[in-house]
Amino acid sequence: MQTSQPLLRLKLTTWDVVVVGAGIAGSVMARELAREGLKVLLIDKKRFPRAKVCGACLNGLALSVLDHLGLTTQIKAAGGVPLHTFSGKQSGRELNLKMLDGLAISRTTLDPILAQAAVDAGALFQEETTVSLGVSGQDDCKVALERHGEHCEISARIVVVAAGLAPQILANQMEFESIIQPNSKIGAGCIINEAPESYRSGVIYMAVGKAGYVGLVRVEGNQMDVAAAFDPQFMKMQESPGKAAQFVIQEAGFEPIPGLDSSRCKWLGTPALTRRTRSIASDRVFLLGDSAGYVEPFTGEGMGWALASVVLLKPILLKAVKQWRNGLAEEWQTAYQGFVGNRQRLCKLLARSLARPKVSMVAFRFARIAPGLTGKMVRNINAPFKFSSERIENS
Ligand SMILES: Cc1cc2nc3c(=O)[nH]c(=O)nc-3n(C[C@H](O)[C@H](O)[C@H](O)COP(=O)(O)OP(=O)(O)OC[C@H]3O[C@@H](n4cnc5c(N)ncnc54)[C@H](O)[C@@H]3O)c2cc1C
Repeated sequence: MQTSQPLLRLKLTTWDVVVVGAGIAGSVMARELAREGLKVLLIDKKRFPRAKVCGACLNGLALSVLDHLGLTTQIKAAGGVPLHTFSGKQSGRELNLKMLDGLAISRTTLDPILAQAAVDAGALFQEETTVSLGVSGQDDCKVALERHGEHCEISARIVVVAAGLAPQILANQMEFESIIQPNSKIGAGCIINEAPESYRSGVIYMAVGKAGYVGLVRVEGNQMDVAAAFDPQFMKMQESPGKAAQFVIQEAGFEPIPGLDSSRCKWLGTPALTRRTRSIASDRVFLLGDSAGYVEPFTGEGMGWALASVVLLKPILLKAVKQWRNGLAEEWQTAYQGFVGNRQRLCKLLARSLARPKVSMVAFRFARIAPGLTGKMVRNINAPFKFSSERIENS
């Protein structure tokens, strides 16, 4: 990976676009804009590779975008595991569904591949650099950078905030205030090197309990990615995410995983998951990916939403770089609500029914006796992105 430059050197350029956050949304967006010949600066506060709480499953929607952009070959070459089955359990009842499309790869491996793809397309990548938003003027937006005590202010025509869930960068920005859904779950995850053989490669295991759920999947190198969403009170009672996960796994009827609740497992957590943002664009600043809003990961679509958003936002950004006008913020709001907003509403509905044990038990039973309908719902969630001719021209 290309190394970061002294911050003062970045001041010499007026950047067309500064992308904050080199997760899946930010890196792919930076790559797409760099391919258009724009001067793009991609910044992340972490040093790469870095771990990230995620179920690590790219669904059909995510893969269709990555494929269209020519990125799947590298992901498969890095050991991405093709998925063929979803296996859910709740109180010992089992639900198995065939999957048509899906790939499991840890974010520790996936995200550097995408950041490197952005660099290969001509973007400059700065790691270990934290960004704060400055004021937007007539022609540009000021952005403050900090790295290891060094400070600098740069200017950009457009800023894309793809900094994940509830990022600090938006904390004091009233128009981007994050509104948390009451009773929102919190996320936790880790990667483990060894898991019982009953957990097979190519299968997504979903343990559903009364106070949360845990997704388990084999990723590259036969490691296992564990990602969970818990009721915050339940997690407090269990004392650690490892104990909470072990509890839900056994409550659902799956084999316990030795060491999951030991100090050997490096668990990471998230803030409250289900939230929306008051506005997703204003004054030369656009929000993308989880920063624009997120719904707990029951349907495992977050990366698909983020990637589809890249395709939808790109033509708007190309116009914004040429000439900013307020209507572009509304254009992004409309495009986002029409695609991601609708899908998030369905996911919210499913997650809400899961939070009511009686309703979820009935839903689980229904899914088993009506596999046709369940399969249809899963196919809809996994449906590939439909590229319109206009979007293809722009990608
Ligand atoms: C428990 C759980 C399970 C999930 N499972 C799945 C799944 O199986 N499939 C799926 O598709 N999705 C899943 N998701 C959702 C998925 O992880 C997210 O939707 C996706 O990572 C969003 O990508 P992003 O690029 O918006 O943000 P992120 O991937 O979070 O990236 C944001 C980046 O911004 C950086 N950053 C933050 N602030 C700053 C700053 N001020 N300056 C510079 N850099 C900054 C961070 O370091 C980070 O690298 C899951 C989520 C959770 C919580």
